[in-house]
This record gives sequence, structure tokens and C-alpha cells, in this order.
Amino acid sequence: MPLLQADNISVKYGAISAIRGVSLAVEQGQILTLIGANGAGKSTTLRALSGMVRATGSVTFDGQPILGQRPDTLVKRGLVHCPEGRGIFANMTVAENLELGAYVRTDREQIEADLQRVYTLFPRVKERLKQSAGTLSGGEQQMLAIARALLARPKLLLLDEPSLGLAPQLVQTIFRIIREINQQGVTILLVEQNAHMALQVAHHAVVLETGTVATSGPASELAKSDAIKKAYLGH
Ligand code: ATP
Repeated sequence: MPLLQADNISVKYGAISAIRGVSLAVEQGQILTLIGANGAGKSTTLRALSGMVRATGSVTFDGQPILGQRPDTLVKRGLVHCPEGRGIFANMTVAENLELGAYVRTDREQIEADLQRVYTLFPRVKERLKQSAGTLSGGEQQMLAIARALLARPKLLLLDEPSLGLAPQLVQTIFRIIREINQQGVTILLVEQNAHMALQVAHHAVVLETGTVATSGPASELAKSDAIKKAYLGH
């Protein structure tokens, strides 16, 4: 059984239909990437799954129906959304932002162990614990956002555009870290504009076009498809 199974998900913003009849399945232990042009509905799909917008359809996570549940309830159950724009608290320190990531948890000793794990993944975050988060560089803020999401102990991490606006070298680093996080046992649903990198790191891919699923399949196969190359890989 997939860790997350979404069937026939639709979201409207007022009169605007953002996604229609989207279905996807994220297998336990894998990375699924959701790619597509600007405005195709990728972020909206993540928001629907994490309870940030109202949606119709059905979603099963870890064997239970979850559509309509609040984001904080879902975080406690292990479904954690790291949003586009990062959502860090600029006036708080890096350490305080990290603490917020763990606020739903009560297992204090495990939190300390997870902090150490996060510091190993993101040494730069550890160096800047006392700095206010708003003064971090864009890349550092992205790392802090992912670090904070990991402190909620996700079973499934929803990552929205983690490479957006980063210098090429940092993009490589972010994708290496995404792979490492996955290898440590976290299942990932990755939204990316950088289809080239996303298809390299993911096991499975879903392509959204104007709010519906255009195609899906193993990432390695989609990376070879002429239509995908032409539309999303720039050759
Ligand atoms: P991008 O890659 O540019 O971030 P996306 O694939 O993530 O795009 P969404 O952000 O999900 O796309 O947007 C899908 C559609 O829904 C777009 O037409 C967008 O204008 C619209 N939309 C998104 N958020 C809202 C909102 N809060 N109110 C009204 N319309 C919205």
C-alpha cells in the first residue's frame, strides 16, 4: 500500500479551478516528483494534501483517510509541508525556528538526537543558531526551512520548490541533501521547476498541465521521453 494515495483531488480558489481530478500515489521510502509549468497546480496539490486548502476527492495517508484534517493534526501524524517561500520566522533566531519545528513533539530525548542529525546534514545552520533567521542568505533560509521540517519527524515530507532562486552550486547541494534525507527513511513528495534535477533524484514522476495530470511514470523513463525533454528539459 502506498504511504499516500490521493484520488480525484480538485481545488477551487473562488471561481478559479486550480486543479481537477488529480490522482497520485507516493510509495513508502520513495521520492515522487511533481513537475509542470508555472501555474500548473503543483503548489495547490501540496496544499490540498497538507490541509492548507479545501479540496474534494479522497486522500489516504498511512492507512487512514485524511482529507479535511487540519495541517497541525497532519504534522502530528507525520505529514509535514515545507512550503514555497520557506515560511521561516525572520525576527526569530535560527535556534527558535528549529524549536518550532519540534513543537508538536513530546519525546525530548529524541528531539535532541534529531537536532544532532539535522546539524550533520546542515552544518551551516548549526553555525548560525543565534543569528536572526531573516538575515540568513536565501540558500541558508532554505536549509533552515528543511531542517525545521525534519524536526517534526516526517514520515512524508512535502517539499515545494526547494531549489528556487538558489545559485547552481547550492542547487546541487540541496538535491544531494534531499537524496540523503530520503536514504535516512523519509518518503518525499517534491515539487520542482528544475525538472532535470528532480527527475534525477526521484523514483517516480507526475506531470501536471493546467491543473490535471498529463502523464506519470518512473522518473528515469520520463527523463528519456522526447515530449518531456521538449517541454521541461529544454532540449
Ligand atoms: P508555480 O510553479 O508558478 O509556483 P504551481 O504549479 O505551483 O505554479 P499553483 O500555485 O498551484 O501553481 O497555482 C495554480 C493556479 O491557481 C494558478 O492559476 C494560480 O494563479 C491559482 N492560484 C493559486 N493560489 C491562488 C489563490 N490563493 N487565489 C486564487 N488563485 C490562486
